[in-house]
Amino acid sequence: MSMKISCPPFGNYTPLIKELSDYLGWEFIIPAPPSEKSVALGTKHLASELMCLPAKSTLGSMIQACELGATDLIMFDSCGLCRQKAYWILQQRALRKLGYSATVHPVRLGLGTPRDIQAIDPSIPFWKAWCGFIKAIRWVFEHEKGAEVPNDSQVKIGIVGEIYTVLEPAVNKNLIKKLEKMGASVHNFLTLSYFISEKFHLKGWMSHADREILQMAMRKSHEYFPLEIGGHGNEAITFAIYYALKKFDGVIHLLPFPCMPEATVSPVLDDISRDFGIPVMRLIIDTHTAEAGLDTRLEAFVDILERKNRTRKGE
Ligand code: SF4
Repeated sequence: MSMKISCPPFGNYTPLIKELSDYLGWEFIIPAPPSEKSVALGTKHLASELMCLPAKSTLGSMIQACELGATDLIMFDSCGLCRQKAYWILQQRALRKLGYSATVHPVRLGLGTPRDIQAIDPSIPFWKAWCGFIKAIRWVFEHEKGAEVPNDSQVKIGIVGEIYTVLEPAVNKNLIKKLEKMGASVHNFLTLSYFISEKFHLKGWMSHADREILQMAMRKSHEYFPLEIGGHGNEAITFAIYYALKKFDGVIHLLPFPCMPEATVSPVLDDISRDFGIPVMRLIIDTHTAEAGLDTRLEAFVDILERKNRTRKGE
């Protein structure tokens, strides 16, 4: 039987996974974007409200892909400290209980990717897995070129939080586009290239960040929270400080329910907000988040920031 690969959607990066699959000679089943239906499916079959929203959403997409005939499913492996690294096991169990024979493959995003590609399909030679990986890295850098620092004439908002919720518009309800439509300029450090090459980014070598300020933010971040917490909890602290030092107007902390690292750093972000005088709005996205309520909160936040901005400029 030929291999039919699918993978949960990952925002603007989903076409990359398709291109990589095409290069490797896999038939790729394009996943449907996350929806209420996919989240409900995932929630039902993980049998617990207590699993994080990304776990439910990605399982729902996997079930939909199985319905379309997927034989193999890719699940991103963060290799980090939080429970994300165990999701593929739970998802595999759920699929088996539903009677699907598809195999879930954890795939590390980084130097481990070529080996994981070969683990999915041992017929792929090592050089080809590496070439596919290098092509993928090129794709990522080409497509992220637009992520510039916001211009000064607008209200500037920095986004921090859990990476999947930040990068998947169908999960965050198009938050970044909405803010931009409201006239705000939005900056986000957490991109796929950040995930793949975090150390280079934190040194300011691969982003448009102000290197000196970023280093300062990292030092201060350790004073606020001297422990590795997993997910992107430490980054949420560092980047919130960075945005404060760079005189952004506000920060949005985006977290899915019930995210351990982001919930843990929430009180720290409140302290940063107080100490640096930068408004931080916490947005918790869960299965019941209503878009209308979210829009109202965003509008109110942008409105407050605009007024503060005008007052500061003496307009
Ligand atoms: S970072 Fe948070 S939401 Fe993501 S898997 Fe870990 S605990 Fe869940």
